[in-house]
Amino acid sequence: MSIKIPRRLLAELITHALQDDPKEICGLLFGTADEADELHQMTNISKKPISRYSMQPGELLEAQEKAKNSDREFVAIYHSHTFTQGYPSKTDIKNALKVSSIATRHVIVSLVEKTRPVVRAFSINSDSEVRELVIQTDGEPYRASD
Ligand SMILES: [Zn+2]
Repeated sequence: MSIKIPRRLLAELITHALQDDPKEICGLLFGTADEADELHQMTNISKKPISRYSMQPGELLEAQEKAKNSDREFVAIYHSHTFTQGYPSKTDIKNALKVSSIATRHVIVSLVEKTRPVVRAFSINSDSEVRELVIQTDGEPYRASD
């Protein structure tokens, strides 16, 4: 299984993450099926933004309208990890169930190494099973070392 994220969106994602570091960022990838074509930034309203993220309900409604009006869907939810590896935390897995009606794919950008942000993608199903997805970017698999 894979997810398609153009290189320009990966660059936007990393820029967004570095701007708010050490706070986690969050947002949505708009697109069709498993192919993202737009990054939609959301406000992290968590009271503990260093280690958690929480999307604002009003913004989420607006995003849903925007997607609907442009015949697109949410390909993935993204957020950053500023002090940990880019793998879903226990909280992420628990929260994935709550947001599964929005999207089941989760993109995580890790800033553990500030000079070398790493983006990974996962699908988390209703049994809380986590599967890593290959990120296809402009026709090639994405490697963090690129
Ligand atoms: Zn997380």
